[in-house]
Amino acid sequence: MPAIVDVSRALKVPGQAYAFEARPELEEMEVLGDPVRFEDVTASGEFTGAEERVSVRGEVSAAVTSRCAKCLSPVTIELQAKLEAVYARQPDPEDPDLYLFEGSKIDLTDAARDALILELPYRFLCSEDCRGLCPKCGKNLNLGPCTCQEGLNVTNPFSALKAIVQNDEEV
Ligand SMILES: [Zn+2]
Ligand SMILES: [Zn+2]
Repeated sequence: MPAIVDVSRALKVPGQAYAFEARPELEEMEVLGDPVRFEDVTASGEFTGAEERVSVRGEVSAAVTSRCAKCLSPVTIELQAKLEAVYARQPDPEDPDLYLFEGSKIDLTDAARDALILELPYRFLCSEDCRGLCPKCGKNLNLGPCTCQEGLNVTNPFSALKAIVQNDEEV
């Protein structure tokens, strides 16, 4: 159980911080219609007990794979997120962000996933200047122009030249 951390020491000695490292395994999920996969998830930091609660502070990192918003090829980024979670034995209606635990072990899976999701980029791009897919034939234009695109390339230099000539005339 790589996401389980034994917190019995913290429950016995409240206020004392203990270091931890865990490797939660997160299931693939969908975020805004795109598949997102988390690999090499590592959570590390400290946990502290206070009465019947355990506070976790640290960070979580993962290799996150989704698809490019423009060309749909797979994109993997390294993501780091702040991990801050409080574990309690009972749900508290005034504190809906609590994670629950039983006995003397906490499970970091949900907290790690929630922290990573908050840091996901607005959209994944394979590169800043991804050319995307041709809207007509669907070809990935990063791999080269398609035939519809070649047609555009032939006419573009002429229309650009025409624009320059017109500008000169206006001056
Ligand atoms: Zn792309
Ligand atoms: Zn095309």
